[in-house]
Amino acid sequence: MDQQGSEVVILGTAQDGGIPQIGCDCPHCKAAWKDESQRQLVTSLAIVDQGSKTFWLVDASPDLREQIHSLADSYPRFSLGGILLTHAHIGHYLGLAALGRESWNRIGLPILCTQQMGDFLRANQPWKQLVYLNNISLSMIAPGQKIVLGQALAVTPIAVPHRDELSDTMAFSIAGSTRRLTYCPDIDRWEGAILDEIMSADIALLDGTFYSSDELPGRDVSEIPHPCIVDSMKTFEGYKTEIHFIHLNHSNPLLSDERLVRHINSLGFGMTSRGQRHPL
Ligand SMILES: [Zn+2]
Ligand SMILES: [Zn+2]
Ligand SMILES: [Zn+2]
Repeated sequence: MDQQGSEVVILGTAQDGGIPQIGCDCPHCKAAWKDESQRQLVTSLAIVDQGSKTFWLVDASPDLREQIHSLADSYPRFSLGGILLTHAHIGHYLGLAALGRESWNRIGLPILCTQQMGDFLRANQPWKQLVYLNNISLSMIAPGQKIVLGQALAVTPIAVPHRDELSDTMAFSIAGSTRRLTYCPDIDRWEGAILDEIMSADIALLDGTFYSSDELPGRDVSEIPHPCIVDSMKTFEGYKTEIHFIHLNHSNPLLSDERLVRHINSLGFGMTSRGQRHPL
């Protein structure tokens, strides 16, 4: 990568509950409880700008502590510019707690989020305290409004349908000097502006929570609030975009079935892994 360029680095790939998941002894969790190398951190990204030696996070996962540490290792002398938030589900904002006085005690760290997400943080403890002690400084973003992060680096939020109990949900279009990446870790179904965005992007990291409805025996497919990977692959068949799946649930067979991974590769789709880099 050139010294002025930017890139996206994957910091975690698991659904909100992580892998292994609390209280679970399914084969994937059992294996991960035994062998630390099989553990997977909760989904999150860093957007790194070489020019200004700054990185931004997309989401503050419950594994933020470890994710910040590995970034500091990979990018010494870089600083954290702020955190963009997708929505108020536990895998995506609980890490904010580590920014407060019991822990990192940041001063005025910019948190870029929608009005609804900001209202939620301002109204509820312990997030409320982070705001009034100025550990975090909320900065409002809105769908379709470009946020300039660097000389040739900008992010545009896109609203997506998701069960929005506490906040609305954003995907992000992240554009560098040569490529554009779409990040959409959580969505109920592929509809709306996100489809055009994915089609015209160079790379997309998309909701891969479940491979198929088979992995949730006894559940009605229509009740699963995520598009299954088998259906997403049909939706995006023929797209020129390089598509990788992220945000995998502990039940997802792609976690252990290499033959299945080769199958999705043969259809033109990829997996994400911690540390994977996408130059922009
Ligand atoms: Zn999630
Ligand atoms: Zn499990
Ligand atoms: Zn969610």
